[in-house]
Amino acid sequence: MAAQKDLWDAIVIGAGIQGSFTAYHLAKHSKRVLLLEQFFLPHSRGSSHGQSRIIRKAYQEDFYVRMMDECYQTWAQLEREAGTQLHRQTELLLLGMKENPELKTIQATLSRQRIEHECLSPADLKQRFPNIRFTGGEVGLLDKTGGVLYADKALRALQHVIRQLGGTVCDGEKVVEITPGLPVTVKTALRSYQANTLVITAGPWTNRVLRPLGIELPLQTLRINVYYWREKVPGSYSVSQAFPCILSLGQDPHYIYGLPASEYPGLMKIGYHHGDSVDPEERDCPTTFSDIQDVQILCHFVREHMPGLQPEPDIMERCMYTNTPDKHFILDCHPKYGNIVIGAGFSGHGFKLAPVVGKILYELSMKLPPSYDLAPFRISRFSTLSKAHL
Ligand SMILES: Cc1cc2nc3c(=O)[nH]c(=O)nc-3n(C[C@H](O)[C@H](O)[C@H](O)COP(=O)(O)OP(=O)(O)OC[C@H]3O[C@@H](n4cnc5c(N)ncnc54)[C@H](O)[C@@H]3O)c2cc1C
Repeated sequence: MAAQKDLWDAIVIGAGIQGSFTAYHLAKHSKRVLLLEQFFLPHSRGSSHGQSRIIRKAYQEDFYVRMMDECYQTWAQLEREAGTQLHRQTELLLLGMKENPELKTIQATLSRQRIEHECLSPADLKQRFPNIRFTGGEVGLLDKTGGVLYADKALRALQHVIRQLGGTVCDGEKVVEITPGLPVTVKTALRSYQANTLVITAGPWTNRVLRPLGIELPLQTLRINVYYWREKVPGSYSVSQAFPCILSLGQDPHYIYGLPASEYPGLMKIGYHHGDSVDPEERDCPTTFSDIQDVQILCHFVREHMPGLQPEPDIMERCMYTNTPDKHFILDCHPKYGNIVIGAGFSGHGFKLAPVVGKILYELSMKLPPSYDLAPFRISRFSTLSKAHL
């Protein structure tokens, strides 16, 4: 048994947005928390880097909308604690055909949850957003709560506040071995630690960390390319001109999303919500073959619908998604080791929800009753997960 002074209340593996918010909640509740990150911070090798993310309440599922209420409050609280702006409200414009089932469900959910929104006819769209051109009878749904989170800034602020609250953040320390038990022992390339509870938020590396613990989750890691497109007239798609975030639910099998020009002045960020399968260790290796012709899809979208942007992108950046089969998160305890908690599978939409994800992972790790119904997030929902994987 470790000497009391060497025993952490909790160790969190992975200082992306989910691990950092988990450590934040643990530190807030006066727990001795150690946040371990394999790379030196800040880094751009996982899923949480980059300057911006969309925040919105426009979801099909009531449970995400309910979680978002608290998320907005916690993001605002973090802004106050860090003394810096992390969020800008821009509204979010969803675009699609009137009969699009997803658009109809989102609108019904926003109405049911009494979230401020507006339905726009093709004529309204043309009048309100002359820089967007849709000629096929598409309609708009404006989520008034939509906006932009300043991602890199948020992560920096969060890690600063964790330290201020007494938490410890150790970067450049890759976890190489976990020995379950009470306490659980965690070995990094540098030293060994012990804790009452362990939270694994390793993003695209989750299955690598879990495999030696006898579990493999149905996660698919995708390489996502993010593109920036130059405005023909500077400012026309910018945050300062009140241009909104957009989400197009069009003909393509996956969303196309856009964020107003802000981080790179004069450039609007537009991406495709899908990518090629990739091993996280090989994310930046040159590819000879791509299953997903994202740049062609996006060039076509920009040419057709965003007439004020240059038709070819100026900048490409890379990031990763870790998708589950149903695109809902995994927030649960390890099926065999009750003091090992897993947060994974954020499926390309987890940043905005991290304040509540972190709270739930904190509650699971401290064996507190969870604040939200965790049924949609349980590992057991994957009935195809064979015993061999557990
Ligand atoms: C291009 C792009 C656009 C997105 N847009 C949005 C958006 O608009 N809105 C939204 O809400 N979400 C968005 N997302 C999703 C969101 O960014 C992710 O869901 C979120 O960042 C996932 O965070 P994470 O902490 O799980 O993963 P990560 O950020 O990858 O963190 C995991 C960390 O664990 C570390 N780690 C792994 N193994 C070990 C080990 N053995 N030892 C120590 N450390 C380890 C890794 O180095 C990494 O830092 C987007 C994602 C991408 C890629």
